Amino acid sequence: MPYRLTEEQQLIIETVKRIRKEKIAPLVEELDRRAEFPWEVHKILLENGFIGLSLPQEYGGGGLGLPTYCVVTEELSNFCYSVTFWLNDLPIEPTITAGTREQKEKYLTKFVRGDLIASIAITEPEAGSDVANIATCAVPDGDGYIINGTKRFISLADDAGIINLLVKTDPSKGTKGMSFFIVEAGTPGFSIGKIEKKMGINPLHACELTFEDCYVPRSNLLGKEGQGFSIAMTCLDPGRAIVGSQGVGIAQGALDYAIDYAKQRIQFGKPIAEFQGLQFMMADMATEIEASRQLVHRAACAIDENEKDRAKLAAMAKYFATDTCMRVTTDAVQILGGYGYMKDYPLERMMREAKFLQIYEGTNQIQRIVVARSLLS
Ligand SMILES: Cc1cc2nc3c(=O)[nH]c(=O)nc-3n(C[C@H](O)[C@H](O)[C@H](O)COP(=O)(O)OP(=O)(O)OC[C@H]3O[C@@H](n4cnc5c(N)ncnc54)[C@H](O)[C@@H]3O)c2cc1C
Repeated sequence: MPYRLTEEQQLIIETVKRIRKEKIAPLVEELDRRAEFPWEVHKILLENGFIGLSLPQEYGGGGLGLPTYCVVTEELSNFCYSVTFWLNDLPIEPTITAGTREQKEKYLTKFVRGDLIASIAITEPEAGSDVANIATCAVPDGDGYIINGTKRFISLADDAGIINLLVKTDPSKGTKGMSFFIVEAGTPGFSIGKIEKKMGINPLHACELTFEDCYVPRSNLLGKEGQGFSIAMTCLDPGRAIVGSQGVGIAQGALDYAIDYAKQRIQFGKPIAEFQGLQFMMADMATEIEASRQLVHRAACAIDENEKDRAKLAAMAKYFATDTCMRVTTDAVQILGGYGYMKDYPLERMMREAKFLQIYEGTNQIQRIVVARSLLS
């Protein structure tokens, strides 16, 4: 198993690092305060070919395998997580996985050109972890379907051109009665409701979506009727590895910042970095980050090779890396003392972003259920 980056990966990382440091990092704090979609960063990512990196090349994507995509995501998440989130091909993953050639040509090419933001809408007021319990329904009507229901906490939806929407098409069939549809912004009957006030990831709005007798043509069905749940599950494995790599990136950024600070801050006549109490904290942080990085890489390789254990490894990587990120960002704030708690320093933002990672793409409790079920099956 390769534990080193290839030469090609190393080259990509150097470029990503340079652009992140020179162009994106200086904008991050202001964008967090502004809490609006950061189009200027989107432009930078687009100009440098960082949008659609994992999408197939035939649709203009980068065609990167998951391990390389994760490494790029880690690098971009270092310090800059929430403003680079939509580099993430995650929300458009159902279209990549199950779209017809026509659907892919129509939507993926626009996504890669930067002309389209996508959202994925699964969560509902009464169904979060329990995805099978969603209530939004699509009923056949002529050449299409009529959709009714409400989705909640849907990232980017107010800026999105399309929503990848999970609904029930046959409630009597449980998970086999679910389907994915593409719903375009502006479709009559589809509207954006409440935009949540959140703890963090401020540039990305979490929205409520309402569907009232919303008609979508049959040509917007992804895959076949009844395949929605299985499409969702297929998308989750790469998604979880990617979220793990976001955790590694944020944690590494927080540790680097805390170390620099500890070398400069003088208390009791010497830099606080010389106190063994803090050195042991830093050693634990670095060790856990490295372990997370390797686990994410292992999971990404397993998913790329479609190994039997891919779901278990993806869940392990997601919860281990993001729990590590939470611990590391919390300890990094501690190393800065009172300054860590202040908005003039970036660590409180990183800590808020880390909390999100433990919740989305399946909470970390749900990941442990996936691992335990795999062990006991
Ligand atoms: C900022 C933000 C953005 C989001 N963006 C999106 C998006 O773009 N699209 C989308 O579809 N969703 C999105 N979500 C929703 C997210 O995926 C859900 O919040 C998450 O899946 C948890 O669902 P819930 O909030 O309903 O919590 P619940 O499912 O109600 O869980 C509450 C608590 O119970 C625990 N729990 C639940 N079941 C079990 C169990 N069986 N065993 C042990 N513990 C359990 C959970 O781990 C959690 O701690 C977003 C959420 C946030 C916060």
